[in-house]
Amino acid sequence: MTTERLYYSDSYTLDFDAHVVEQTTYKQRPALVLDRTYFYPEGGGQPSDTGVLNGVPVIDVQTRETDRAVLHVLDGKLNDARVEGRIEAARRLDHMQHHSGQHVLSQALSRAAQAETLSVHMSADKMTIDVNRPALSLDEWLAVEELANRIVLEDRAVRAWFPEPDELARLALRKLPDVQGKVRVVDVGGFDITACGGTHVARTGEIGLIKIVRFERRGEATRLEFKCGGRALRDYRDKNDVINRLVSDMTVGYWELPDAVKRVQDENKTLRAELKAVREQLVESEAQTLLQKATARGDWRIVTQVFDGREVGEVKLLAQKLTAQPGMVALLGIAGEKAQLLFGRAENVEADMSVLLKTALSAIGSERGGGRPNFAQGGGVPATVTQLAEAIHQAEQALPAGS
Ligand SMILES: [Zn+2]
Repeated sequence: MTTERLYYSDSYTLDFDAHVVEQTTYKQRPALVLDRTYFYPEGGGQPSDTGVLNGVPVIDVQTRETDRAVLHVLDGKLNDARVEGRIEAARRLDHMQHHSGQHVLSQALSRAAQAETLSVHMSADKMTIDVNRPALSLDEWLAVEELANRIVLEDRAVRAWFPEPDELARLALRKLPDVQGKVRVVDVGGFDITACGGTHVARTGEIGLIKIVRFERRGEATRLEFKCGGRALRDYRDKNDVINRLVSDMTVGYWELPDAVKRVQDENKTLRAELKAVREQLVESEAQTLLQKATARGDWRIVTQVFDGREVGEVKLLAQKLTAQPGMVALLGIAGEKAQLLFGRAENVEADMSVLLKTALSAIGSERGGGRPNFAQGGGVPATVTQLAEAIHQAEQALPAGS
C-alpha cells in the first residue's frame, strides 16, 4: 500500500504518529510500512532521513519500486501496531539547506555562467553538482556565488506543490520531471522553478551561506563541490583553524602563506642539494680511509666493512667510490632487522660478485639477492654485525686468488 508522504507539504514536522500497515524486510533487515510518514526516503540525489520509531533506530528509508510504499528500515524488530516517529533534526535541516541551496546554485550557474546542471550527488559530508561546461573562469565562479547568495539574502519564499496538468504545462521548469504521474514542483521565490520531490526550507534565508569549495574538470563537464549553512560554517571553522596554526608556525600574515610555503620549499631544495654534496664528500674521504686498511691479495686489494644500520644508498655510493680504483674488491654489509650485503669490484678484477654474494647470503640464511658480475646486493633478513662479518669472511675465502 502506498504511504501518505507528509513531508511533501511540510518539511518541518519531525514528530508524528502512524499505524503500521505491513511488517517486511529490506536487505535482510526488518522494515515497516506505515499509513503515513514524515520520513524522507532516499531519492532524487538526497539521502534518506534517520530517526526512531518507538525508540528503535531507523537506519535507512527506501521507496519500494512495486507500489511506492515507504520502507522504514529498522536496527531491530518492532511488533507494535502503532508507532511514534521522530526524525533526526540536524540531519534533516542539513539536507533541507543543501537541497534548497542546490536549486539556487543550479539556477545561478545557468544565469551567471550558462552552465546547465547535468546531475547532483549528495552524501553526509559532500554535495556536488556536475555542469555541462569543461571550465569556468574565476569571474564566472564569483558571479555564480554572488548571485546565489543574493537570493539567500533576499529571503524569498519557497513553495512546493502538485500542479494540475494545465498549470504544469505553463510552468517554465529548469529540469523536466523524470517521474510518472503527479509531478511535484518547487518554486524558489520565482528565481528557480523545477520538478523535485525533496525536502526544502520555507524561505531562502534558512539556506545560509552558499559556498563553492572546489571544482574539477571531468571530461566535458565540471564537478563542483559546495557547502551550505551549518556545513559551510563548520568548513570555515576547520579551515580557519588550519590557517591560524600555519600563520602562527610561519609567523606571517595569512595572505603571505603561499609565498612563505614557496620560500620553505625552495630552501628545502637548496639544502637537499647541499646535503647531497656534503655526503658525497664524506663518503669520498671515508673511501680513502678504508683504502688504507685494504688487504692485498696478489694484484687485488680487498676492503671489508660492516656498519650497524646505515642508509643503503650511502653504502652503495661508498662501494662505487672504492671500486673506482683498479684492482679493488669491496665487501660491505649493513647489520639490522633487514640486513644488507653489498659486494662490488673494479672492472679489471675477474671475479663474479653475484657468486660471492650467494655464499655470504647462505651464511645468514637469506635467498634474496643478486646482481651482475661487478656488483651484487642482497639480504633482507635480521643479522648482527658479527654475523655479517662472518658471512663476509666466508665470501672472502671463496674469492679466487688475485692474478
Ligand atoms: Zn529539491
